[in-house]
This record gives sequence, structure tokens and C-alpha cells, in this order.
Amino acid sequence: MLPRRDLVVARHDQEDWSVGLRCPCGCGETIELMLLPEVRPRWSLTLDQLDRPSLSPSVWRRTGCRSHFWLRCGRVTWCE
Ligand SMILES: [Zn+2]
Repeated sequence: MLPRRDLVVARHDQEDWSVGLRCPCGCGETIELMLLPEVRPRWSLTLDQLDRPSLSPSVWRRTGCRSHFWLRCGRVTWCE
């Protein structure tokens, strides 16, 4: 389970701009994903009734640890 404090959403003018999270592999790096509809690539962040975050599509770090995972309902699912 990803603690909620590890997910930081940057807001500007009522709009979610980006989400930052600590890489779940433990490498200590921060991943920043854009949420704005007009940027590419972009991600969508949703919270369920229990405030558990989900991200779509999957997160794939092209550099560093090259982690590739899904975040669904606060849980990290690793891709092969
Ligand atoms: Zn990592």
C-alpha cells in the first residue's frame, strides 16, 4: 500500500497539474507525472471512496531504475 503522504498533487487555479510520488521500488527518486489534459504524455489520477489513488496509464521510468508499474487503489502492481 502506498501511503497517501507519498503522493503529492500540484494544483493551480483549481486544476490538477501534476502528481509527484516516490518511486515504489525504493530507489528514492521522485516521479512526476503530468495531469493536464492538453499535455502528452499525461496521466489521469482518480481516488476511490476510501481516498485510494489510481493512475492511468501505467508508469514507466525510462531512466534510472526503469520501474514499470500500475497504481490501482493505492496498490502498486509491477509489470514484467
Ligand atoms: Zn525506482
